[in-house]
Amino acid sequence: MQREAQWRLDSGSAVTEIWTNWAGNQRARAQLAKPTTESELVGLVKRAAERGQTVSAVGAGHSFTDVALSDAVLLSLENYDRILSVDLQRQTVTVEAGAQLHAMSEFLWSRGLAFENLGDIDVQSLAGASSTATHGTGLRFRNVSSGILGMRVITGDGSIVDCDAENNADVWSAARVGVGALGLISTITLRVVPAFNLRAVEESRRLEEVMEGFDDLVAANDHYEFFYVPHTDWTMTKSNQRNHDDPEPRSGIQEWFQETFMANRVFGVVNRVAAAQPKLVPQLARFVPASGRVEYNDRSYRVFATPRSVRFLEMEYAIPLESTMPALMEVKGWIDRTGTPTMFPIEVRAVSGDDIPLSTAYGRSTGYIAVHVFRGTPHERYFHEVEAIMKAHGGRPHWGKLHYRTHEDLASAYPGWDAFQAVRRRLDPIGIFQNAYANRVLGPLNP
Ligand SMILES: Cc1cc2nc3c(=O)[nH]c(=O)nc-3n(C[C@H](O)[C@H](O)[C@H](O)COP(=O)(O)OP(=O)(O)OC[C@H]3O[C@@H](n4cnc5c(N)ncnc54)[C@H](O)[C@@H]3O)c2cc1C
Repeated sequence: MQREAQWRLDSGSAVTEIWTNWAGNQRARAQLAKPTTESELVGLVKRAAERGQTVSAVGAGHSFTDVALSDAVLLSLENYDRILSVDLQRQTVTVEAGAQLHAMSEFLWSRGLAFENLGDIDVQSLAGASSTATHGTGLRFRNVSSGILGMRVITGDGSIVDCDAENNADVWSAARVGVGALGLISTITLRVVPAFNLRAVEESRRLEEVMEGFDDLVAANDHYEFFYVPHTDWTMTKSNQRNHDDPEPRSGIQEWFQETFMANRVFGVVNRVAAAQPKLVPQLARFVPASGRVEYNDRSYRVFATPRSVRFLEMEYAIPLESTMPALMEVKGWIDRTGTPTMFPIEVRAVSGDDIPLSTAYGRSTGYIAVHVFRGTPHERYFHEVEAIMKAHGGRPHWGKLHYRTHEDLASAYPGWDAFQAVRRRLDPIGIFQNAYANRVLGPLNP
């Protein structure tokens, strides 16, 4: 199982460790525990409560925000990741919260099942991915959290609440996207679907053509996304159709060339040159790898997710679907006007609306626009500007990706805000699961 979060012992102490996230922009100095059983989880929460300490859970550390940080007790769920049961009839799987999406996909496939939809990586934990409303693309499909049928949650006093659409339904409703603040998720039961393949077509297309056809493209394809390369007129597009035809996977060499060599190594080198010579970005952007045209048909989870070795920082906004192209034009216009030296592609996706109070897709068909910078290059001005554009379009920031919003203006973006806060106050009245991020974006527990 791939472990990308980095751990190292702080020389000063046997119990306190320094933890950093995948992107390397967040650090915690905290007492680290790696529980392996539910009773350990309960014991750790109770002990922290007795000592007046706060507790945060961390999955795979793939959030860019400080959402999983703690300055007291950090619970890594990397060893609490077993698949507990699968129900072939009902098409459900029950797992411990730290179960990794990729490991789950391999297991599900061996039983003829699959995730309904996935984002573009699959190394996250299920609890971590669902807690921030992790999504893929596809207007007929929802995010990962929407598949959650039931959960077991450990509350601020260490008691256990089982919840689903019938029992403790308010807890279930909110905790599907709990942003780490509603308690410690112990287990999750997820709805899955019969295994399917994806026929992938990846090709470069002109921006103008893609923007004009966006509505039709997201309607016609099961899963459609594109990456606009700043300072060029080009996009790299990906369309995936679900099917049960015989697989026609790429050869090992082809896959290595496209994903490891071009999309990661060459892209990494181009970005390092650009970081050293920002003035060259408009010229260098032309060398951002584009695939030409590639077509293959493979297991769904192998097509949804790709490896990412180039480290970057990211902001992603969810906006009403109809605002997606106008907002992208505004971002492009700003980059062109200011000559902002970024060439990291801007990712554009579309997802079905849902009914989860703090889901970024709550109540509306949603377009997602994500901007990235190579790690170590300036991002503040760019991200602030993009945020202002997205905010004007009624945008909601991805909880796991960088943003500058606070509870003061986020509350009005979520019709289910008060319902979420009521569950939060009930499950965690003294704030065991509070951290700086929760304080900032969800607000104090008792305002
Ligand atoms: C390279 C890369 C690609 C990405 N691609 C996508 C994408 O395609 N789509 C997308 O939507 N996002 C994407 N993301 C963002 C990522 O999916 C989210 O940030 C996700 O939350 C990370 O999962 P994790 O397991 O690493 O959780 P962490 O970052 O470790 O934690 C996230 C939150 O979950 C909470 N949490 C974890 N476990 C528990 C638990 N047991 N109980 C309660 N709370 C818990 C944490 O406290 C924290 O609040 C990407 C991130 C990276 C780095």
